[in-house]
Amino acid sequence: MYYGFDVGGTKIEFGAFNEKLERVATERVPTPGDDYDKLVDTIVELIKKADQEFSCEGLVGIGLPGMEDARDGSVLTSNIPAAKGRFLRKDLESKLGRSVNIDNDANCFALSEAWDESLQGEKSVLGLILGTGFGGGLVYDGHVFSGMNHVAGELGHTRMPIDAWFHLGEKAPLLTCGCDNKGCIDNYLSGRGFELLYAHYYGEKLKAIEIIKNHEAGEEKAVEHVDRFLELLAICLANLFTGLDPHVVVLGGGLSNFDLLYQELPKRIPKHLLSVARAPKIIKAKHGDSGGVRGAAFLNIA
Ligand SMILES: [Zn+2]
Repeated sequence: MYYGFDVGGTKIEFGAFNEKLERVATERVPTPGDDYDKLVDTIVELIKKADQEFSCEGLVGIGLPGMEDARDGSVLTSNIPAAKGRFLRKDLESKLGRSVNIDNDANCFALSEAWDESLQGEKSVLGLILGTGFGGGLVYDGHVFSGMNHVAGELGHTRMPIDAWFHLGEKAPLLTCGCDNKGCIDNYLSGRGFELLYAHYYGEKLKAIEIIKNHEAGEEKAVEHVDRFLELLAICLANLFTGLDPHVVVLGGGLSNFDLLYQELPKRIPKHLLSVARAPKIIKAKHGDSGGVRGAAFLNIA
């Protein structure tokens, strides 16, 4: 059995998956505010309960908004105060007497999609989340590649390519990122960036959903904005694809529901790639909100 935990700021979701990767159990409990011992006990209790139910010792994976410090294994996160700076993996392992995997939630999202029946056997899958931020995860041969510092896939903090900057024109806004760098694509390509760019060019704060509705109605500003955004996205993605060359790209997050992306990106990306390169297949995520739990569980697939 594979056990996955999606630990978020407000809730912990648990899922158990059988050998066929089918979900056979689900639990949701609140995340203990800043009580670390309670966080550990909550996870351990859910595992022991599932062990009993399924008469086995399940393999444990945990996804969270953050990562393990590659130097000492402490948890780097700003969204889960209880886990911040703690040695969660080590503490769980000593209580459970088995090994535990911990990874970033965007990596878990990518892994969950890569193990969808339709993508099994793909050599590489790049998961991209166009949500509040722009995050990513890289899966090679069915396993997350997280790199030496566990920051592989943190694509939102790569900076805008120069052609993207020229594309935005004279009025291009130079935005400072939460990571203190300027021009990180997180601030431009996320759902938040979509709204921010609209406000920047038209002086009006609209929600992404309203902009998309206006676009569908053929409203002039929305049409111009969406065209500018799609080209910006195509340039930045092509730049990432030149470095990563994924076989398949899966999009998640709120903006991934904008169906025009799947029609326009395949047309717009090729001209920004190396001439020898073809654009990868770009598809919408299938597992939505359960991706975090699935991916966390599948961290244990050997
Ligand atoms: Zn950044």
